[in-house]
Amino acid sequence: MSENVKVAIIGSGPAGLTAAIYTARADLNPIVIEGEPSSTTDQPGGQLMLTTEIENYPGFVEGIMGPELMSSFRSQAQRFGASYDTAKVLRVDLSERPFKLWTTNQSGEEPKYLADSVIISTGARSLLLNLERETELIGHGISTCATCDGFFFRDHEIAVVGGGDSALEEAAFLTKFAKSVTIIHRRHELRASRIMQDRAFANPKISFIWDSTVTELHGDTSLTGITITNRETDKMTELAVTGLFVAIGHSPNTDIFKGQIEMDEVGYIITHDGTATNVPGVFACGDVQDHIYRQAITAAGSGCMAAIDIEKWLKQAEN
Ligand code: NAP
Repeated sequence: MSENVKVAIIGSGPAGLTAAIYTARADLNPIVIEGEPSSTTDQPGGQLMLTTEIENYPGFVEGIMGPELMSSFRSQAQRFGASYDTAKVLRVDLSERPFKLWTTNQSGEEPKYLADSVIISTGARSLLLNLERETELIGHGISTCATCDGFFFRDHEIAVVGGGDSALEEAAFLTKFAKSVTIIHRRHELRASRIMQDRAFANPKISFIWDSTVTELHGDTSLTGITITNRETDKMTELAVTGLFVAIGHSPNTDIFKGQIEMDEVGYIITHDGTATNVPGVFACGDVQDHIYRQAITAAGSGCMAAIDIEKWLKQAEN
């Protein structure tokens, strides 16, 4: 039988869990459908679970580890009465209230939850290069998360693809383990912030290959090398790396909401008046609706906004 809930929060990164803390403290008994571990890059807690040290989250003078921070968020929300369902939402029907949610761990055809209101905080995920055998080699030389997998590449020669802050951050982290780290960027100018660029240029273990893309992956059971093609000259070069870290940006996790919620052309949910979506009673916060700031602190801030918005909306809807 379906369970009736006042607030269903989909996703458990900084946005979802902050929304959980605030809605729990407002006695709305939120259920957080937190996701389920399905790979190193896909687990409850969101992208901070794939991070080591976070130096810029206010309040932690010496920094804090990403998983530790998320574990504290989770316990804090639980202390005020939030409950958790370790499952993924498979399908939603937002066409009428109560909203219907089907999850991976339910039995039968009935929706698992009938929710008076919904907070979408499903975040975003890493993009891949779309090369032949790329997904097959994830976990066998290819990774999207240096902090999860860097340890396995002690004394390896490693390449990182991308020119943004993520690529440089991953590269810097990987120098702790790797013999060398080569950053492959498709242009001759990095997108990353100046401070990250300065650090990367000053790191003796990091070198750059410019104007180039990875065009082929080699290796049967694990990665043994890559082919790089220069975009100006079409010259192909082989690089004997046993690790390839892809850090080329993110895509919002909005597939299950397609056709039901207003989104931009790349799938980020459009919010207005704070965190409201075009569907009354459905709110969105964090990276799923923010492709500009994408910080833990901004995600947490928008989670707080969503909780305040939903509390106000529920009060009005009840009257
Ligand atoms: P990003 O800034 O969008 O950078 C993505 C990089 O990947 C770009 O250099 C892009 O090249 C390249 N790229 C995209 N598609 C590609 C493809 N198919 N093949 C090869 N290269 C490709 O993404 P991000 O680095 O993940 O950063 C996202 C946001 O998070 C940014 O706002 C960033 O500042 C923030 N961030 C901050 C920190 C920090 O402050 N410590 C750490 C990580 C991320 P082009 O440059 O040519 O487009």
